[in-house]
Amino acid sequence: MTSNTDGGTDRNAQLFERAQALIPGGVNSPVRAFRAVGGTPRFVQRAEGAYFWDANGKRHIDYIGSWGPMILGHGHPAVVEAVTQAARDGFSFGAPTEREVELAEAIVKLVPSIDMVRLVSSGTEAAMSAIRLARGATGRSKLIKFEGCYHGHADALLVKAGSGLATFGNPTSAGVPPEVVQHTLVLEYNHLEQLDAAFAAHGDDIACLMIEPIAGNMNFVRASVPFMQRCRELCSKHGALLVFDEVMTGFRVALGGAQAVYAKLIPGFEPDVTVMGKVIGGGMPLAAFGAKRAVMQQLAPLGGVYQAGTLSGNPVATACGLATLKEIARPGFYDGLAVQARALTSGLADAANAAGVPFCHDSEGGMFGFFLLSELPQNYATVMTTDGPRFNRFFHGMLDRGIYFAPALYEAGFVSAAHSTADIAATVAAAREVFASL
Ligand SMILES: *Cc1c(COP(=O)(O)O)cnc(C)c1O
Repeated sequence: MTSNTDGGTDRNAQLFERAQALIPGGVNSPVRAFRAVGGTPRFVQRAEGAYFWDANGKRHIDYIGSWGPMILGHGHPAVVEAVTQAARDGFSFGAPTEREVELAEAIVKLVPSIDMVRLVSSGTEAAMSAIRLARGATGRSKLIKFEGCYHGHADALLVKAGSGLATFGNPTSAGVPPEVVQHTLVLEYNHLEQLDAAFAAHGDDIACLMIEPIAGNMNFVRASVPFMQRCRELCSKHGALLVFDEVMTGFRVALGGAQAVYAKLIPGFEPDVTVMGKVIGGGMPLAAFGAKRAVMQQLAPLGGVYQAGTLSGNPVATACGLATLKEIARPGFYDGLAVQARALTSGLADAANAAGVPFCHDSEGGMFGFFLLSELPQNYATVMTTDGPRFNRFFHGMLDRGIYFAPALYEAGFVSAAHSTADIAATVAAAREVFASL
């Protein structure tokens, strides 16, 4: 029997052992398994506000928030009330409901590039459907994605760069036939020349360019303004659709998502298609994709692009999403989040500097990233030059002190409206000790 620091039984370890016998790797999504950092995953018993309690009853300050959705913190009373009410009215009908209309109205109002929206159940499903829609709408097959961007696990997106400039990709997963990714071009993020070369070679065959505008699956890397501008220009010039994967950034970096951030920097900027998830469901399985009317009308039952889902627009999930959107639409909400995210990252920077550990950081709204590097990386390859073992020691040092950051150096972090100044101060104090020990 394993023991925890209090000398009692380590229930996290016990649960992990049971789980590993029954569930591959003991988890239902790989990054939860702590493979990158080593050690035992924390099994969550319950959560409230900025905290969760693990199976040993130990409290953690949570900077993952279900990988983004819990922007209000856990168990926000208005959201719990809305979900409880909805559950009483019925879990699922397979027929339309008023809340789906209300949620669509809310999305269209908050995101000007979207005229129509379809609700689905996961970010993977939304991204996969958006690509089918782009291919159907353009009558083309090829798509562009960027190394280090994650768009869920649809076959055509599980791909890494081939050898050489602007070549078609190789599968990153067993079980994906090479033919399935032969239409996917994988380019380096923020690399203007590669982008130009790809459009010069294949421009009129490209259905869409899919991008995380602020990439949150290689820690936190922004698309530069010139790069984003060029993505927009080249897509428009060649009749390809610019697809923003805002599953992570939507309603997270700003009320209008990352596209609102870029619209401030690039006059008139809009993507053609937007993929959303995470915050939109407030912690329930809910995601969406939307675009201008002419594109969305290509979807079944109006058009020839098939897409469907038994649980799509689920009544309990839409109640959760609607209640969440209502709270985050309050004036000043994102300013408050941004202040806390910056206080956290600059506090961590001070702690790292005091210990002579290289450190740099960035944040937008309630999403942040930090690197044990002296300069902010612009692409995946540079992110991966981070000293992995050192990051892992940092991660475990913080975890021991009840601070839960992402268990991998290539993940972004999140603050919620429930994170207090005292929580941030406690985190920075812990980081001072940990950095000094690195
Ligand atoms: C999380 C994420 C996805 C996948 O969403 P799931 O709900 O996990 O399927 C897709 N794109 C981005 C940018 C994400 O962060």
